[in-house]
Amino acid sequence: MTEILQPSLVLAPARTAFFLDVDGTLAEIVADPQQARVAPPVRDVLHRLALGTGDALALVSGRSLAQIDRMLAPLILPAVGVHGLERRLQDGAVTRFDYDAQAHAGLVAAVTDFAARHDGLEPDPKPGAVALHYRKRPALAAQCHAFMQGLCEADPALSLLSGKMVLELIYGRQTKGEAVQSLMQQPPFAGRIPFFAGDDVTDETGFAAVNRMGGLSVKVGEGATAARYRVADIAALVHCLDLAARQGAPQREQSQRRDVS
Ligand SMILES: [Mg+2]
Repeated sequence: MTEILQPSLVLAPARTAFFLDVDGTLAEIVADPQQARVAPPVRDVLHRLALGTGDALALVSGRSLAQIDRMLAPLILPAVGVHGLERRLQDGAVTRFDYDAQAHAGLVAAVTDFAARHDGLEPDPKPGAVALHYRKRPALAAQCHAFMQGLCEADPALSLLSGKMVLELIYGRQTKGEAVQSLMQQPPFAGRIPFFAGDDVTDETGFAAVNRMGGLSVKVGEGATAARYRVADIAALVHCLDLAARQGAPQREQSQRRDVS
């Protein structure tokens, strides 16, 4: 059963590890995915929360690290991109799972070609993956699905993920849940209570992982979910994060701030 997350629920920054999806969780979903941005007041809350937790905060997104950074600019936060395929933690070093670059280039070309033949479809190449957005042409959902499914079946190295008005082919079997579980083994996350917030189907693996670890899983918005808690919208989630950040303020000078100008 999913309860409403009450802002009074104490999220102690020193004891919590925050894992946050980006689109639909921290940033409004817009017609053109390339135009989506994290609003400056939300960015400020994330910055303060990262400081208050000693960087025990990671964005966990289907987007690439480059796209995540663009959405939060000039703030750079620890992040897991492409559903776990790319990782950049507090030391700033980027790790990526291996994939066949030549096969990936062929896959990107196939999806780009398909999109070019259907007005309004947007191909979205990323390291080790390619997404196809059909937000502007919802009537093409079934056709897009059949096309992406066909590509997936042709290469056993691929997985097909579906989200809100988007389908994605990714090399490997990484999931947000697996990423969260592996981050929880290492500093500064280890030993804390995991908190994971997300809005989409691909976040369900994250909710399940956090539930197994006795943490707090939070679904943003409507829809069936394994999450234990729910908030109505982005503003309600950010309000809870802001309260947590305010509690974390005294730790500020110990944490490592990394942002670019
Ligand atoms: Mg999302």
